[in-house]
Amino acid sequence: MQYAFNEVTNTNQFYGNTTPIELVKEFGSPLYVYNEAILRERCKELKSLINYDKFTVNYSVKANGNLHLLKVARDEGLNADAMSPGEIFVELEAGFTPDQILYISNNVSAEEMQYAIDRNITVSVDSLSQLELYGKTNPGGKVCIRFNPGVGAGHHEKVVTGGKKTKFGVDPALIPNVKAVLEEYDLKLIGINQHIGSLFMDSYKYIEGIKSVLAIAENFADLEFVDFGGGFGIPYRKQYGERRLDLNELGTRLEEVIKDWMKRYGKDITVKVEPGRYISAECGVLLGTAHAVKHNYGMKYVGTDLGFNVLKRPVMYDSHHDVEIYREEGAASGKEEVVNIVGNICESGDIIANQRKLPEILEGDIIGVLDAGAYGYCMSSNYNNRLRPAEVLIDLEGNPRLIRKRDTLEDLLRGF
Ligand SMILES: *Cc1c(COP(=O)(O)O)cnc(C)c1O
Repeated sequence: MQYAFNEVTNTNQFYGNTTPIELVKEFGSPLYVYNEAILRERCKELKSLINYDKFTVNYSVKANGNLHLLKVARDEGLNADAMSPGEIFVELEAGFTPDQILYISNNVSAEEMQYAIDRNITVSVDSLSQLELYGKTNPGGKVCIRFNPGVGAGHHEKVVTGGKKTKFGVDPALIPNVKAVLEEYDLKLIGINQHIGSLFMDSYKYIEGIKSVLAIAENFADLEFVDFGGGFGIPYRKQYGERRLDLNELGTRLEEVIKDWMKRYGKDITVKVEPGRYISAECGVLLGTAHAVKHNYGMKYVGTDLGFNVLKRPVMYDSHHDVEIYREEGAASGKEEVVNIVGNICESGDIIANQRKLPEILEGDIIGVLDAGAYGYCMSSNYNNRLRPAEVLIDLEGNPRLIRKRDTLEDLLRGF
């Protein structure tokens, strides 16, 4: 590469023995690229978050459901949580055993609940009504309940999933009613869970959430686990010097709170966390191509193949993703410009990077959208009848391997 604005991927040797330009030549554009070493590192980091025997980390398939990444996570000793029968299906396919899966259901049909019960997978229910449904479907069974302790956190109101203004969880004021339903159907409550929301960068809110859920847990004597949920943030603004979540600090506080609580509870039970994006976000980069550069009424637009059908986060949550620029020939012009990097979808909201100051981008440049490994491919669609991109994994030797094919035009006719 003659010119590359690539500090982040250069520092972590993201592309191994290859380059973004070679990758696009071989596998096409746009393209999701994952780095196996980074994925494994994140799994290891969280596995060792606290020094406690009965600690498990759940991979959230919701954030990235590629079968190959799931297998890596399983190989690293992670468990998995599922949000749907489809996620259960893929997890079993990846080799997770039923006891390693927790189905965190939300407003599901009797058939969906049955799907998990038939496969011996623990179900977490989200309301009294769904607890009743569980009781009718599986009387005498073991069940988990998601509580909403009234604490929420998140980077955008759409992803705050705890607190008094969300659809999630059971209000702890209903504990007597919960107990009545448990008794009526002879159910054993073996776990409680919560998920306060996404992307905390400071452990304070998370610890507060944990304290509230542990207080709720004290109402139930036979628990086998408590699940604290996810939301561990990653620095999406590395190019601006954003710092990482301090796992040492979080781990130390967490360990203190847990050990203290176990003493009061009278036995050591399993503790779970569900750090969806923390595990997969940073191992993924989305590559695209700048096809057309133009000025419209004073604003410069870099037109790419990175529409929101490929990466939805910027449009859906106003999310920031750092951007890198790779060029095969010619040097950087030395100019910096404020540009909009946009996609090819017929909507004006189709913007990947809004009014971003970057070195001059030329037609033909390859654009790398960083930290796209979570909520990237899995939220992509065929909107505008565009084809979902291929996915490639840079393996531990640094070589690329196709791990999901690009859609074909024929895929657009499936089902007709
Ligand atoms: C989405 C989700 C997670 C993971 O959230 P992140 O923001 O990716 O950490 C964990 N648990 C539940 C129940 C979720 O819905």
